[in-house]
This record gives sequence, structure tokens and C-alpha cells, in this order.
Amino acid sequence: MNYTDKIVHLIHWKSEFEGDILFLSRLEKSERVKIHRNCQIISFSGEDKKLVGVKIRNRLTKAVSFLPLDIVFIYIGMIPQTNFLSEDLRDKLVDDWGYIKVDFQTSKTLMKGLFAVGDVTNFPERQLTTAAASGTIAATSVLSFLDESRS
Ligand SMILES: Cc1cc2nc3c(=O)[nH]c(=O)nc-3n(C[C@H](O)[C@H](O)[C@H](O)COP(=O)(O)OP(=O)(O)OC[C@H]3O[C@@H](n4cnc5c(N)ncnc54)[C@H](O)[C@@H]3O)c2cc1C
Repeated sequence: MNYTDKIVHLIHWKSEFEGDILFLSRLEKSERVKIHRNCQIISFSGEDKKLVGVKIRNRLTKAVSFLPLDIVFIYIGMIPQTNFLSEDLRDKLVDDWGYIKVDFQTSKTLMKGLFAVGDVTNFPERQLTTAAASGTIAATSVLSFLDESRS
């Protein structure tokens, strides 16, 4: 499929973005990206089981408009999957946002013998590289923990 003539619509419910300022300025300059600030999708429209567009509403002006679209990628925040922890443990181990609190040097949680890694932790960067690195740190820490437990 050839996407070279396509326009990408970026629908953002706030007036400002929190991302990297350099990436944002590139986005803003791009003729192929149209940014809709203060807007929310209110409905999807389809024909023959295929998306044809979305209705968006401007949260400030309340104006509703229709955007013809072929594809929609939804990305609205993140919820750390820490529900597997019992309520007791959640109270002890997670921060206000639901992320498991860890010591970044060792991947140790506040519970002895329990280690956590990757996106589910309160480490501020959530990337493949940081997730993999925390896995390596945890593996080393687990070995030390087992050695100490044996002696
Ligand atoms: C849209 C998007 C784009 C991204 N782009 C990039 C990028 O370009 N570069 C980059 O570096 N990072 C990117 N990231 C971030 C990157 O994907 C994550 O930081 C990384 O995958 C985190 O790895 P993880 O192993 O901690 O978690 P995950 O990759 O989310 O893996 C967690 C796994 O645990 C499983 N799981 C959940 N609950 C349970 C349970 N109770 N029991 C058993 N298994 C369970 C899940 O099914 C999943 O397989 C992106 C993330 C998103 C969402």
C-alpha cells in the first residue's frame, strides 16, 4: 500500500503536548500531519464493515466536524497491569499511579525476594532498552539474593 500521499490527523484532547519539544516541532512543521488540539473523537462511522471516518468535537468551541479516515490508531495513556497483586500487596508495593516501586540499582521491590522489571515499575523511562536493562539487573540481583539465602 502506498501511504506517501496520505495525511495523518493527530487528535489530542489537550491544548499542549507533554512530549519531546524537538519531535513536536517536527510534527508541527510537517505538511502531512494535521494536529487537532482540544479535540475528542465522539463517534466512528463505517460502511460495509470498513471505517470511513470519525466525528470529533472541539472541547472548547463544542464544534463538531467529520474527518474521513481509513485507519485509526488509538493511544490513550497507560495503565500498569498490577492487578495480579493482592489488594494488601498493592497497598504496600505500588505508587499512586499503580506502578510497582523498585530500587533502580537492584530491581528490588519493597517485599523481600520479589523483584520487578520493565514498564510495570516506577522507573521513569518506559522503553524496550530500559525494560531489557532492568531485566538484566533483576537477574543479577536474584542470583545474589539466592546466594545470600543459601549462606
Ligand atoms: C504504541 C507503543 C509504541 C512503543 N514504541 C517504542 C519504541 O519505538 N521504542 C521503544 O524502545 N519502546 C517503545 N515502546 C515501549 C516498549 O514497548 C515497552 O517499554 C516494553 O515493551 C516494555 O517491556 P515489558 O517487558 O516491561 O512489558 P511488555 O512488553 O508490555 O510485556 C509484558 C508482558 O506481560 C504479559 N502479562 C501482563 N499481565 C500478566 C499476568 N498477570 N500474567 C502473565 N503475563 C502477564 C503481557 O501480556 C505482556 O506480554 C512502545 C510502547 C507502545 C505501547
